[in-house]
Amino acid sequence: MLKRRHYHIDDIESCVLCTTQEEENIDHLIFSCQLSQHCWAKIGTSYNTNNSRIEATIRAKEKNYGTLFFEIFTFAAWNISKERNNYIFNQINPTHNSWLERTKADLNWLRYRVPTNLSDYITSIVNNL
Ligand SMILES: [Zn+2]
Repeated sequence: MLKRRHYHIDDIESCVLCTTQEEENIDHLIFSCQLSQHCWAKIGTSYNTNNSRIEATIRAKEKNYGTLFFEIFTFAAWNISKERNNYIFNQINPTHNSWLERTKADLNWLRYRVPTNLSDYITSIVNNL
């Protein structure tokens, strides 16, 4: 967005989550970044460059987590962006472990907003992450 608005962004144009020097855009940050791919693999989903993101998401929904898929997908993507923002704004290095702990914490909170059977399912998901 900063680039589209012609802000001078020499130092923050490349992704801060990996060492690839790829341009930071939403596609790279959430789906194809090395750190992001590691995060998606942890929750049993993969996004490679050969498939469309929509198709890959639909396939992942069919095989992972049933009705909770989009909640888990949203937590995972949100926490990837938090890793990026923590680096940019707080100089905290992004790590897979901090993403994982934050995602587990969000899932634990989700347990209080769902029926008991889903709450137990979330507990099993968290325990297996
Ligand atoms: Zn990256």
